[in-house]
Order: sequence, then C-alpha cells, then structure tokens
Amino acid sequence: MFLKKNLLCFLLFVTVATLFIGVAFTSADFFTSPVYRLKDRFILFVQWGILILALFPVIYLIALNRYLFSLFYPLLCIFSSILTYFRYATGTTFTTMILDAAWDNDIHISLELVSLGLIVIVLSSLLVGVLFCVYRFKKIQHPNRVYLHYLMAFVLCLVMFNVPRIKRPVSERIPFNLYYITARYISEKNEILTERNILTENVVCEGEENLLVVLIIGESLRSDHLGLNGYERNTTPYLSQEDIISFPHIYSEYTHTNASLPHILTRADSLHPDWANEERSFIDLFKQCNYYTVWLANQEPAKTYIYFMKECDTLIYANANKSPYVFDKWTDGDLLPFFNSFIEKEEKKLFILMHTIGSHWYYNSHFPDEFQKYNPIAKSRIVNANTPEEMINSYDNTVLYTDYFVYEIISQLRNRNAILFYLSDHGEVLGENGAWLHAIDATPTHYPACLIWMSPQYKEKNPSKYDTLQMNKEKRYRTDFLFHTILDAAKIQSNVIDEKFSLFH
Ligand SMILES: [Zn+2]
Repeated sequence: MFLKKNLLCFLLFVTVATLFIGVAFTSADFFTSPVYRLKDRFILFVQWGILILALFPVIYLIALNRYLFSLFYPLLCIFSSILTYFRYATGTTFTTMILDAAWDNDIHISLELVSLGLIVIVLSSLLVGVLFCVYRFKKIQHPNRVYLHYLMAFVLCLVMFNVPRIKRPVSERIPFNLYYITARYISEKNEILTERNILTENVVCEGEENLLVVLIIGESLRSDHLGLNGYERNTTPYLSQEDIISFPHIYSEYTHTNASLPHILTRADSLHPDWANEERSFIDLFKQCNYYTVWLANQEPAKTYIYFMKECDTLIYANANKSPYVFDKWTDGDLLPFFNSFIEKEEKKLFILMHTIGSHWYYNSHFPDEFQKYNPIAKSRIVNANTPEEMINSYDNTVLYTDYFVYEIISQLRNRNAILFYLSDHGEVLGENGAWLHAIDATPTHYPACLIWMSPQYKEKNPSKYDTLQMNKEKRYRTDFLFHTILDAAKIQSNVIDEKFSLFH
C-alpha cells in the first residue's frame, strides 16, 4: 500500500514547515539547559521531539487551507523569532509578568527594546515564513477528502493538548507559550476581578505608628536542613548568631507553591480550606490599619495567588523574565535594593512581603558562586543524572544563601520597631525513598522552615510576645497559624482572628 503522491507531498511539506519552527525557535529552550551525560542530551532531544510531535497537528491543520496557512504561519514565525531573540540575547522567557509590563508600558519604553539584531532575526524569519506560503500556493495541493483531514488534525490537536504530561512542558515553550501565556494572563486578570469576602469589618488597630512587619515566603526550604535546627552542616552561620526563634515542627498540608500560598495568606485552615479561594487575605487588614503594603516578587504570579499580590498597594517583580525553564542565575539578592528603598523612605506603618525563589530546583541557579561551599554540586537539570551527594550539596548551598539573605534583611531592621516572619511554602524531599524535589506526599515536603525575629525595640515594647514564642517554639502547628499570628504581632484585632491559632498564645 502506498500513499497518493499529493498526500505524500502535503505531509512532507507539513513536516518541513514544522521542523523549521522546531529547529529555529523551539530549540532555544534546550540549548540553554545544563546537561552532563550523553543520556541527558538524549532525554532533552526526546523532550524536544515531543514538542515537535505536538506542533505537527497544528501546522497540519492550518496547512490544509492555503489562506489560513498564509495568515498564521508568517505570524507564528514573527512572534516566535521575537521570543527566540530575547531568549538568547537576555535569557528572557515569555511570562505573564512581561505581558503585564508591556500592557502598562508606554510605547516608547517598548520601542527601546528594538535593536538591529532583533530586526534582522524577525525579517529573516518572516522571509522564510513567506517562502513557505508561496510554496504552499504554487506547489502543494491539499489532500483528497480534505474534510476528513480537518477532522483528523483537529482530533490529534485535542489529544496532544489534553495529555497533562505533554501540556505542561508544551505550554512554557516556543511557540506554544504565545498562546498559553496569553491565556494565563487573561485568566489571571479575571481572577483579580473576582469577588471575595471582605474581612475588614470590626477591625481594631492598636499597633505603634512606626511598626514594620516583614514576611519572607521561602521556597522549598525544609526545616531539618537548617544548622540552627540541629542539621549536621552549619548551613546558617549568620542566623545562628542572631536571637532568632525557630519553629521546626510547622506542618504544611500542601507541598507545592500554588496550593500552599493561598492557604498561608488567608484565614483558611484544615476545617475551612475553601476560604483560600473565597476570602481576601490578611494584607487587607493591614491596609485597614493604615499600613502601606508592598509585595516584592521573585517568582512569577499564579492564578491561585495573584489576587493577593494585587491586594498590596505596590507590587514589584524583581525578575519579570524568569520562569522555571530558565537555568541562569536567579537569586533572591535581586530583591534587596527594592526592600532597602522601601524601608528607607517609609517611616510610617509598613508591611513588606517578599516571595523568594529560595531553594527551588534548579538549585545551582539560586545561589551566587561565592556561596558554593559544599562540593561537588549538581551538573545536570535531569535530576537522576546527579548523585544524591551532588543534589544535597547544591541544595545546602541554597540554604547557605538564604541564611545570608535573611541576615541582610535583619541588618536593615535592627534599629527599627520591626518583626520579621520567615515561612517556607513547603519542604523538599532529598532522596528519601528515592524521591526528589516537591509536590509529592513525602514527609520532608510537609515540614517547611519557619523563623521569627524581633528587633530590640519591638522586644522592649512586647516582652511577653517574645517569651511566649520561646515557650511555644517546640510545639506543633499547621501553617494555618500565620494569618492569626502576623495580625497578632501587629496588634490588629478582629473577630476573624482566632487566638488559638496564634503562636503568641
Ligand atoms: Zn514552592
């Protein structure tokens, strides 16, 4: 049995048009990945191949109609070439944060990004795209019984884009991210506009006029890898010298960022987990008590918590061009200049939340070279290409850097009336029962690091609060504590605050 000649030509044309996008643009994400073994390269090649397989039915579908093809294929080339240019030139991935900035920027700022290199890349890609269109018009016939092919292409697309194992990596890669990131941006915008229950009735504000409350949300930092919690390595040389109170037995129900953050920031608890999706956060109560509220983000927003980011008076993205598919340096030190500028200019009540990248995989990206104390470190982004020792060394280097980062924040707060909370969103599993990373139900992923520090001035004004924390520090709590404790720390009272959850009781 053989395929008819025009069908064969058509499929060959679709294959070449798909491969052009795959090689010229999609491959950009793979050339920048750290790999070690030949096998790792093979795994990346297979991942790239899956993306190409997912792209094939899309090109197949549009190529069935030459007008449709002439409209979409050059557009795909133009937009993909822009993303590819910035991927190579500045390590930028396309994120909802970039779309948000582009939306808010005036046209002059956007135009400043246009360079000769960009123009050359875009024009050459457009030229190739147009050549494909001309060839499609002149040489390629659509196959017989074209409606059957429409149906087949459509069903193939549906299947490809509904398999979660394919959809997740596809959605972050060129050219699919053009669609998925835009769709995510629109859904995040809609999420911000949803109605949520307001908790600011009956609020009584008793805190001092100069109080500064800081919350650092950590990332994947497990409690038992802190030197100050008795870990065999001294991963906290700075914080071990501070009068810091650690709560090593905090339990997080959720083991990934998107589920954990809304639970931490709202009144949600084990009996009422839905409040995480229905109510506004404690940030609102701070605002009600005249705090200026700031969210400093070193992680991209997600639909589950963007609502709370926008509750703040100011939202700043320290790294708007970074996503989990970026492997160059991306450290929390990037938040420090923003943090410093806010505490310098605001003398009145101030609440600052920092959402850090902390100990997120790929660990090596998240600590500067001078914090590479434990060696050898991981060498590939394919987890099982690294030895357990290399994985743990890289992870512990991120902990060393977090120790320094938190210490830097504390140094800025020492002479103020300030209290600092550090709570990681979840822990991380490091080889226990052969498992790695998080978002899985393994014991270490449920125990995040939790630290509280008070400035001398705050301690003086609140001696009983300090003593109570010391008394409670070995007790077991769920992350439900945070909503009630942070408001309690600021002496904000309301009937939505439940004393029994507060670490101060
Ligand atoms: Zn996380």
